[in-house]
Amino acid sequence: MADKKIRQVAIYGKGGIGKSTTTQNLTAGLAELGKKVMVVGCDPKADSTRLLLGGLAQKTVLDTLRDQGTVKDLSNILKEGYLGIRCVESGGPEPGVGCAGRGIITSIGLLERLGAYTEDLDYVFYDVLGDVVCGGFAMPIREGKAQEIYIVASGEMMALYAANNIAKGIAKFASKGDVRLGGIICNSRNVDREIELLRAFSRELGTQLLFFVPRDNEVQRAEINRKTVIQYDSEAHQAQEYRALAKALDENTSFTIPTPMTQERLEEILFEYGLMDALDSYAEKI
Ligand code: ADP
Ligand code: MG
Repeated sequence: MADKKIRQVAIYGKGGIGKSTTTQNLTAGLAELGKKVMVVGCDPKADSTRLLLGGLAQKTVLDTLRDQGTVKDLSNILKEGYLGIRCVESGGPEPGVGCAGRGIITSIGLLERLGAYTEDLDYVFYDVLGDVVCGGFAMPIREGKAQEIYIVASGEMMALYAANNIAKGIAKFASKGDVRLGGIICNSRNVDREIELLRAFSRELGTQLLFFVPRDNEVQRAEINRKTVIQYDSEAHQAQEYRALAKALDENTSFTIPTPMTQERLEEILFEYGLMDALDSYAEKI
């Protein structure tokens, strides 16, 4: 198998939308399919890999650098978790000091130098915080590190605002390079007509709704036990959903340059799908 290309995937989305939960459950599903995966947490919160590591505290790249001055060995910053998934947390600067995206730049550089991108890897996932793609947070999609992006969103207005802003950033980088949007992953918040809204939103954005992940308390139960749903309750309905998401991503062939919409157009779509009342009360608040 000469020249197998590692699929490098960046997962973006508003804070709290479910990026880390979805990424870990999805990669557990890919690992079950026999795929070799590395997950690089690109959020100063450093909680992108805890379900894969069974809650084991993963020392971040930036903390390791702070304490030891240097990283000599990959094993200092990379741990194997569930089904051999390789886990890295970039970490962040001390709160209020410097650019929050700094750790990502440092981490990717170190991972490259220490030989983490081994040929046997099928996937590298970057779990990236942010409502906008800028500074260090753009790192995974700059310079062709990740070629493939998914945005996690829901039918909630702020999640869609963020997704549209992220798409603007992606469009900018895509016009200069190979990075493409692979689709929207809806992490459901049980909003009325959510799937229709997300389909319309995705279409307008020039992409597809890759998958609709239902909201399910099994996610919380697994989380308290510091596991992905797939590991905690392999037979659960939600485990099947994550396996189906893994399959959809593995088989995805739709990669586009997004066409972000104006604020007015986004609001029109929200109105069309009945988010009118929410929008009114939001307008009152600001
Ligand atoms: P992010 O990484 O985007 O900041 P998280 O993955 O940490 O968000 O998700 C925030 C919380 O939402 C998690 O602690 C988890 O309990 C909950 N959550 C995420 N996805 C689901 C889901 N499909 N069903 C139920 N709860 C979920
Ligand atoms: Mg997260």
